[in-house]
Amino acid sequence: MTRALDATHDAARLSWLESANDPATDFPIQNLPFGRFKTQADGAWRVGVAIGDQLLDLQTAGLVPSGDMKAIMALDASARRQLRRSISAGLTQGSAQQAAWKTALHALCAVELGLPCDIGDYTDFYTSIHHATTIGRQLRPDQPLLPNYQWVPIGYHGRASSILPSGASFRRPNGQTKLPDQDRPALGPTRRLDYELELGIVMARGNALGEPIAMADAEDHVLGLALFNDWSARDIQGWEYQPLGPFLAKNFASTLSPWVVTLDALAPFRVPFTRPEADPQPLPYLDSEPNRAQGAISIELEVWLQTASMRRAGHAGEQLSRANYRDAYWSLSQLVAHHTVNGCNLRPGDLFGTGTLSGPAPQQGGSLMELSAGGNRPLQLANGEARSWLEDGDCIMLRGFCQRDGFRRIGLGECRGSILAPLP
Ligand code: CA
Repeated sequence: MTRALDATHDAARLSWLESANDPATDFPIQNLPFGRFKTQADGAWRVGVAIGDQLLDLQTAGLVPSGDMKAIMALDASARRQLRRSISAGLTQGSAQQAAWKTALHALCAVELGLPCDIGDYTDFYTSIHHATTIGRQLRPDQPLLPNYQWVPIGYHGRASSILPSGASFRRPNGQTKLPDQDRPALGPTRRLDYELELGIVMARGNALGEPIAMADAEDHVLGLALFNDWSARDIQGWEYQPLGPFLAKNFASTLSPWVVTLDALAPFRVPFTRPEADPQPLPYLDSEPNRAQGAISIELEVWLQTASMRRAGHAGEQLSRANYRDAYWSLSQLVAHHTVNGCNLRPGDLFGTGTLSGPAPQQGGSLMELSAGGNRPLQLANGEARSWLEDGDCIMLRGFCQRDGFRRIGLGECRGSILAPLP
């Protein structure tokens, strides 16, 4: 699992593409995330790597035989690492590829970015103990955290069909809800629409049915991470979730950002996976020495809201909260090992959601349900507006980045989605 640092992580490495050397870019030469794009001239999805304010078309650059993301997902971990080294070397200042690769560049603002791959099966986890405890306190004040939480990574199977690319808007969903003072439920637009700050884990290589993936091999099956917003209708959820868990409250829309940041790019930002000493330690199939040493990843995450009136005023939005992925209770390898321990087969392009990533402090909640205390304490915005739940016209933007002394800051880009008025 351990990913050695190499020249691709060298903070001193510069690109011949000047925008990649801008300290503010999410996509310096040390990042090189994979995504898919379309040009106006060509309607097919093609694989690219973000670099500065451009992307490099990998097929045109002669780095892959086709423009299909499946070809990259089919590579084993060492071949993917070799591809990263080739891309990095060719984009480095003074490289012999500069003249040829210039013709393989497209400005990010001139292409359509889509989902990073065709999404297969989608599983959403619940890996933030801070989120689970805050939500649990609202639902069950006497027992916020259920006893299984510290032993088993909790998750459910979701739907891939409604996973939207960043930038897409969707209609406020209708659903069945029941207010506490009513004796019958009614159908109507959700009144408690929420976002969830998550990371999406994109699977590269699968496993055969009946053959679990061990902790030691788990990360080799992962292409990388993207930002993920699991939109949620809390009033629909509250009425429908027992006894089988989330259903229509969750499957009307989720938004995934376009760029998958690879585990190789994230190597400098690994941190130990730790549990408080009083907590149960993971069972042996969810434990390994490398996981304890560096199973967690430090990724700073932010949620931003731009309301319709902010947009009219030319205001870029207000930050609602921050959290860090290192605070998750279960690591990425543990999710892969647990998902397959019964023999369940994963396939290339499957997606895991981490679950809402809330930090330990109350203001670090990754959803409005936490920040507004279940709608009881509206969030006051600087422009005088307030939000308990999302309103039509609201746009939520998730952002993420990694930084550490001695290394170049890398970013995950942006995951953006907007809410339209409900279906009539
Ligand atoms: Ca979720």
